[in-house]
Amino acid sequence: MIEFKNVNKHYGSFHVLKNIDLQIKEGEVVVIIGPSGSGKSTLLRCINRLETISGGELHVSGVPLHQRKIDINKFRKDISMVFQHFNLYPHKKVIENITLAPIKVKKESKAAAAETAMKYLSRVGIAEKADSYPSQLSGGQQQRVAIARGLAMDPKIMLFDEPTSALDPEMIGEVLDVMRTLANSGMTMVIVTHEMGFAREVADRVIFMDEGQIVEDAAAEQFFSNPREERARQFLSRLI
Ligand code: ADP
Ligand code: MG
Repeated sequence: MIEFKNVNKHYGSFHVLKNIDLQIKEGEVVVIIGPSGSGKSTLLRCINRLETISGGELHVSGVPLHQRKIDINKFRKDISMVFQHFNLYPHKKVIENITLAPIKVKKESKAAAAETAMKYLSRVGIAEKADSYPSQLSGGQQQRVAIARGLAMDPKIMLFDEPTSALDPEMIGEVLDVMRTLANSGMTMVIVTHEMGFAREVADRVIFMDEGQIVEDAAAEQFFSNPREERARQFLSRLI
């Protein structure tokens, strides 16, 4: 589903991703952890082509993203991303936030898009907020809307960049619950998070990054019980 082959990326003279080799299979749940500035968001953003790579090969959902001529819109439909700060449209109702892309990108009728939106709003437990505006919702509810919006595109891959980092502690659980259910449903997920308990429970694999490199790529249980690399050990020990 996702394959990085010796991928490098620079921001000007800054070498942000170094020789990245990574394969993610359909249905896998992969958590990326590592210190701030290690390149986690950049790696995630390369997967849905918010960023382009400077070298190597990157295949996502059958599309060779390193090649110049690709059908970007066809590709975008397969991948949804959830951000730390929700990124909802403040002047649109919850339901409009969700139906916008299916109507514009997938050319769905308004009625069909609304029906799908209600299905996913129910799934994340806030169908009753369909006609509210984002500002009338708690942070946890807004993030659940953002997840419903991602799901409404019927993606093959869901990317999450620190989806609970901007939330008050009491709202983190409700968002992680939605993500856990999604993981159990077989969705392919790549998640940047600092929630180590969640990662240990839900992830199939953990990728530990430092200074633009993948330092360790291991099964979650193996990683948390006995990380191989010294830098990973130090990172984990600082979190406790
Ligand atoms: P992380 O998500 O692990 O905190 P990022 O991928 O956001 O790391 O950033 C990795 C490094 O790249 C950081 O040093 C950051 O300052 C730098 N960086 C990120 N985005 C840009 C950009 N658009 N232009 C220049 N440097 C950037
Ligand atoms: Mg980041």
